[in-house]
Amino acid sequence: MATCSLPGRAPARMRMRRRVDALIIIFLAVVSTLIAWRFDLAEQFVSFVEAHEDMELDEGILLVWFALMGGIVFAVRRAREYRQAVRAHEQATRHASFLAAHDPLTGLANRRSFDERLQHEIARARREGRPLALFVIDIDHFKSINDLHGHDTGDALLREVADRLASSVRDVDLAARLGGDEFVLIQVGAEQPLGAMALAGRLEALLAETYALGGTHLVSSGSIGVTLSAPDTVQTPADLLKQADIALYRSKAEGRGTYRFYAKEMDEALLARRELEAELRLAHAEAAFELYYQPQHRISDRKLVGYEALIRWHHPRRGIVTPGEFIQLAEDTGLIVPMTHWIIRQACQEALTWREELTVAVNISASHLRGDDLVETVHDALEASGLAPSRLELELTETVLVERAEQARVVLERLHALGVRLALDDFGTGYSSLSNLWRLPFDRIKIDRSFIAHMRSNQKADQIVQIVVELGAMLGCEVLAEGVETEAQLDRLADHRCDMVQGFLFGRPTPAHELRGALGSRVPQGPA
Ligand code: C2E
Ligand code: CA
Ligand code: CA
Repeated sequence: MATCSLPGRAPARMRMRRRVDALIIIFLAVVSTLIAWRFDLAEQFVSFVEAHEDMELDEGILLVWFALMGGIVFAVRRAREYRQAVRAHEQATRHASFLAAHDPLTGLANRRSFDERLQHEIARARREGRPLALFVIDIDHFKSINDLHGHDTGDALLREVADRLASSVRDVDLAARLGGDEFVLIQVGAEQPLGAMALAGRLEALLAETYALGGTHLVSSGSIGVTLSAPDTVQTPADLLKQADIALYRSKAEGRGTYRFYAKEMDEALLARRELEAELRLAHAEAAFELYYQPQHRISDRKLVGYEALIRWHHPRRGIVTPGEFIQLAEDTGLIVPMTHWIIRQACQEALTWREELTVAVNISASHLRGDDLVETVHDALEASGLAPSRLELELTETVLVERAEQARVVLERLHALGVRLALDDFGTGYSSLSNLWRLPFDRIKIDRSFIAHMRSNQKADQIVQIVVELGAMLGCEVLAEGVETEAQLDRLADHRCDMVQGFLFGRPTPAHELRGALGSRVPQGPA
């Protein structure tokens, strides 16, 4: 736009020049009128024209008159162009400074203005001796929503969240987007902590309201971390952000969709997590992991058909630690990738010492479906051990599939092409989607143990088990019931014609060297 290239001070200078021009014109008009009036110029001119008819002066005057009119039209048009140029320049300047301070997607303040404002408000809170509240807000499972519904819906959700945040704060407060699905709020001037508690409650409810995004109705929620500044201590913006982040982490760990206020003890919890992380890295380096195996049996003849590998950690102080305490951390830190490579290799090698018809199942986390790494690892482990691919089964949960739907399909198809079997783990929990069953090459469905546990007390749980078994039969997938602990559960599953079972009734996870049934000499044909 040509107007944007005007030099910075041009509009002000142009305005000044126009004013000076106007003053000069007014001055000349007044002076010439006075002179004309003083010397009767008009009458003298008329008598001069009448006395010199032969000089054709009247035509000359007409010419001068037209030239004058043309000049005026030209001047007015130029003046209008000037005005438009000034207006466009002012608009461009306003737009540029808006962009420099705001997030283009949501229109909220951006990280830069947030940093400046937080610095300023911390200083003011110290001067005035009253705390400010800082909120950090994350949309729960935003990545999954983006993957599942597409980026346009993801963007629309971000805009709607921004509108809700902006509408819930006062003019003196600041709402900003730091990037991705990370939002922040600075609350100033409210009585604390009551103001922050009220706002946190409002935000929690507001973010959980249904989102209508161009034809899609979405249910979402936000996790919120809040901290109050301490006006009697020297604090930097980074200190406050760190505290709010720690509180946010706590809110996520305790179920999401809610808020937590920062408290000093949370530092200790974070420290403990850091320590666990360091120990986990060391454990991997020192091979302190071991695979335990839990048997899987066919219901019809109660025959052992294979084992699921379940990892255990030999902790130097705490003894044997179960995966519930460290798998999530391993996933968060990326350690799960090298760990799973070890698990697959180890499981293949150990399974090779078992009877030939026994299979081994390995659990796979979301992080493995990003690239071809998993396919290569599985291929290499099978080649190195010499285990038949059909004896290896990989278990994936539905959440894994939702988070990386398209990559998951490609990777799973390549794995299936290797001859490896695939199982859909914890079926019925998380984001259940029947499309997983027909789009992806699963050989087995594992019904989550929560359904088995409630099968006898809750008719609906029982009916769901029955329907999943029927669904599996129709799709040509084997169905395995997890967490079978009693004969009564086993009988009910047999009535439903479920194919296989796994659970404490048949055996707990056991170290490889204690597997009695694997070598064939003393095969248990059912629970003792
Ligand atoms: P999962 O894949 O659903 O594994 C079954 C879990 O249920 C195991 O817990 C097992 O000990 C437990 N279980 C089996 N039968 C019964 C029963 O009859 N009653 C009850 N109450 N529980 C039973 P574990 O070994 O603590 O593993 C927990 C979860 O950790 C696993 O759930 C799996 O998601 C994850 N996990 C375990 N090993 C690995 C691994 O090597 N890699 C990955 N990525 N995840 C693993
Ligand atoms: Ca499993
Ligand atoms: Ca499971």
